Amino acid sequence: MRSPQAIEADGLTKRYGDATAVDGVDLSIPPGTVYGFLGPNGAGKTTTIRMLATLLRPTAGTARIAGQPVTDRAAVAPHVGYLPESPPLFDELTAREQLQYHAGLQDLPGDEAADRIERLLDRFDLAADADDRIGTYSKGMQQKTALVQALLHDPDVVLLDEPTSGLDPRAARTVRDLLAELAAGETTVFLSTHILPVVDELADVVGVLSDGRLVAEGDPDALKGRAEGGGTLEDVFLDVTGDADLAAARPEEP
Ligand code: ATP
Repeated sequence: MRSPQAIEADGLTKRYGDATAVDGVDLSIPPGTVYGFLGPNGAGKTTTIRMLATLLRPTAGTARIAGQPVTDRAAVAPHVGYLPESPPLFDELTAREQLQYHAGLQDLPGDEAADRIERLLDRFDLAADADDRIGTYSKGMQQKTALVQALLHDPDVVLLDEPTSGLDPRAARTVRDLLAELAAGETTVFLSTHILPVVDELADVVGVLSDGRLVAEGDPDALKGRAEGGGTLEDVFLDVTGDADLAAARPEEP
């Protein structure tokens, strides 16, 4: 039997009353892909990710993570890690306690959990502060703790909403290196960000959402080659999200 795609969506739709936040999105993403998910503010990126993470029920259409329907939270949970824009961390816990708590929720065996927690804390330069309360952490340290939490159970698919926001250049570099490593090891990374150079560096496939619809998708170099304003991912973004005039009016880069 053909192994399932890491992420599949067919007509995925979310409506709030009369407003349609996500409008018939189709996705077919093989394992090991870094998928750069772009779109203007309010385009529906977070809504899409929350449906894939089983946290929001689609109004219509279907989606599967590692072959499991997103309407079955228990079946999907072992396969997916999610880093939301505002990570769910407890200020009163230390990072180590927070991660141990999360490992318990994921039913990770104690030894394996302890080993992975220590390795990831070390990887993200958090080991020395791991017994301080999260409430005393900087935004970047909190973001790194949340990312470790999303990766703790070694999911097949990680859904990341602005993973490098608030990170200093060294921490952002660590995150980018780790994402590339994950993808090399067959983890699928679904990356929503407004930081286009990160997408340019990492993404195998780029999808652009506008008004809830996937208006462009493909290999980043191929998309850049077709963009009206020139040859950057920003040109692609401006072109397909309806700001082509702005792209054309911009002066040439020196
Ligand atoms: P950003 O880049 O600003 O984070 P986004 O692409 O993630 O934006 P969403 O947060 O998914 O966009 O929002 C898509 C649309 O759905 C917006 O118009 C938003 O106002 C609307 N929306 C989101 N959540 C709700 C809700 N709970 N009730 C009603 N409308 C909502």
